[in-house]
Amino acid sequence: MAGERRERLVDALLVAIERHILPLTRDGIAAGNKVFGAALLDKSDYSVVLAGTNNETENPLWHGEVHTIKTFYELKDRPSTSDLLFLSTHEPCSMCLSAITWAGFDNFFYFFSHEDSRDAFAIPHDLRILQEVFTLEPGGYRRTNAFWHSEHISDLIAVCDDTARAGFQARADAIRAEYAKLSDIYQGGKAETAIPLK
Ligand SMILES: [Zn+2]
Repeated sequence: MAGERRERLVDALLVAIERHILPLTRDGIAAGNKVFGAALLDKSDYSVVLAGTNNETENPLWHGEVHTIKTFYELKDRPSTSDLLFLSTHEPCSMCLSAITWAGFDNFFYFFSHEDSRDAFAIPHDLRILQEVFTLEPGGYRRTNAFWHSEHISDLIAVCDDTARAGFQARADAIRAEYAKLSDIYQGGKAETAIPLK
């Protein structure tokens, strides 16, 4: 991908987290839900079509990604999934990887890795399910396959030019700090919810 196009893409992905997903997730956390969110962006101009956040206090399957896909199919006029970028704040779990596939997306981008979810968010279930059900070690699924290509946003930032990279890294640090705060709130309140895998 050309440098300028990559920079526009990274900027749009960070804007989607900063301005579209995080406000929803702050409300979701206050209601006892996890920190995971998602957004759909138009491939042509990188505008945000829809954002969503975890809503598992209503249904444990309403992960940020699946709940966003559910809401997307409730839109009357919706674009084709083949015309959209899929953004997940956290690397999708096995259910969400399949949901993204079944809905016909040919890509996804994520900010935090499965290892981050385990180590920084104390949520080990993504990796445990991949290990227990699919016998996959961390990093063991195919990040590019016949259905989609996935990208860790930090890998995109790492190959940007110096000036752009410094700006993106500062914004990424601020996003990480914000999620650390939200995670503390979630972890402090999760004992009170009936979510099966907390
Ligand atoms: Zn999931």
